Amino acid sequence: MKFFDTHCHLNIPPLREIYKEIIESAQKNNIDYIVIPGTNYEDSIFAIEIANSFNNIYCALGFHPNEIIELSLKEIIIKLDKLKNNLNEDKVIAIGEIGLDKKAGNFDFQKEIFILQIRLAKKYNKPLIIHNRELSNDLLKILKQEWNDYFENNIVFHCTEPNEEILEFAKIKKLYLGFDGDLTYRKDKQEFIKKVPLDLIVMETDSPFLLPEPLRTFIKHQTRNKEENFFPNKPENLILIFNKIVEILNLDKEILAQKLLENSLRLFNLK
Ligand SMILES: [Zn+2]
Repeated sequence: MKFFDTHCHLNIPPLREIYKEIIESAQKNNIDYIVIPGTNYEDSIFAIEIANSFNNIYCALGFHPNEIIELSLKEIIIKLDKLKNNLNEDKVIAIGEIGLDKKAGNFDFQKEIFILQIRLAKKYNKPLIIHNRELSNDLLKILKQEWNDYFENNIVFHCTEPNEEILEFAKIKKLYLGFDGDLTYRKDKQEFIKKVPLDLIVMETDSPFLLPEPLRTFIKHQTRNKEENFFPNKPENLILIFNKIVEILNLDKEILAQKLLENSLRLFNLK
């Protein structure tokens, strides 16, 4: 069985210092493919560097909504313009992660930057990796407004919220829903994934975040203060998410693994 971690931040602390050993260990554990999304200009460039130094490691470029707050529109336009030069590189397979985040504030600015990046993707025919925190309606409105048919099979709702409207839109347009370590402990997501067509499911660890169970509880018991409590997630833990999906959907492991791999490759136009 081969696995694909479709969302893993090897380009940010604390993983950026140890990405080589993390990738080697992942590949030993059959996590053959990884996509590293960008969250700002600097880590997008670093993501390309990492992707270029290993087989089957790919990256996406973009501004995460939490990373734009301290920048002006002009600064972002200049940086996006620089990133354009990298969009045709072999290992750059998407624009992301981009989107809307309720906690980040300044919604009009977030929307403006999101739309700018969708238009960039359209111009270069790139898939989208979408971040959404509690702003599903605004997000869907923008996606419908900016829709282009090539986006069919080329968008993932990263760490999807268990939202019916998103699921309906994804079914109609053939878009992917990403499931992470929180699937191992969130009952609402465990119910939600049962409604998602198998063709639209992809897995992601979102490392260093979202440590899956049982590691999450184990670490909680090992550590006392909050700071120590941050134990980075790693792509090799994808297998814990996979086992949970097997359990919830009650499917044959080999068949499910093959399906999830095919979905991930199709999402990023890799085969
Ligand atoms: Zn992310």
